[in-house]
Amino acid sequence: MQVKAITFTKDAKKVELDGCCRFWMPLVFCERCKRRSGEPAANFPALSVPQHLEKCLEANEKRKPITVDEYRIIRDQVLSANGRNDLILPPLSGVGVFEAKLLVGRLYDFAWINSWTPLISKEALRRLADKNINLKIGGLQLTCGAGNIGTHVALQCELAALLAEETIEGLALEKCDLCQEYHRKSMRVNMMNYEATKYFKRANFKGDVHLVRLHEWSTFIIASEQFVEAVQDLGLTGIQFDDVGEWV
Ligand SMILES: [Zn+2]
Repeated sequence: MQVKAITFTKDAKKVELDGCCRFWMPLVFCERCKRRSGEPAANFPALSVPQHLEKCLEANEKRKPITVDEYRIIRDQVLSANGRNDLILPPLSGVGVFEAKLLVGRLYDFAWINSWTPLISKEALRRLADKNINLKIGGLQLTCGAGNIGTHVALQCELAALLAEETIEGLALEKCDLCQEYHRKSMRVNMMNYEATKYFKRANFKGDVHLVRLHEWSTFIIASEQFVEAVQDLGLTGIQFDDVGEWV
């Protein structure tokens, strides 16, 4: 069975949108793998930031790296405040209401920021819900010039590690057992030029979740079969699917 990742259509890519979450998680320097956290594509517009952390997580704050232990304290406060201790929340993830500007073009059912942050129209969300596809969403403040656009919301695609061991190996990824992040041992191999079949663990795609961002390679968002079918049935615009590997 093929694994499908969601991506933009050519038309949707021409729309110019810019934005990010109001807050960012801190930058970490890990004393075990000796790396600074990379910038994940992950963002969590449905999470709120406890008031006492707002100042230090503001997106425009200059960041000094903190230790893994210091990071865990802040992360756990954010997760507990939202009752979501189950979430993988990597350093530098976006958190809180998504703020975006539409610069050029009209919005499709799915609109894209930076190729890896999907927004969805409220209408498409409702039509998907009618087919029993319920997606996790967060707040979006979308403006165009001086006006507000209220037609869309931000999707929260939560992370799961889905890659099988041999694919992790093939992609030259390694997981640090302290910071729990995946790092690339070699820059020559990546998801796009990896020629062997990529295998994904079905068992890690859990419950009634329909869109999962890969923890190992966070620009990829994997869709459930029900989601793919519903989107095609409804003829939703601005989205297409890439075959990225096989379920095992
Ligand atoms: Zn590490």
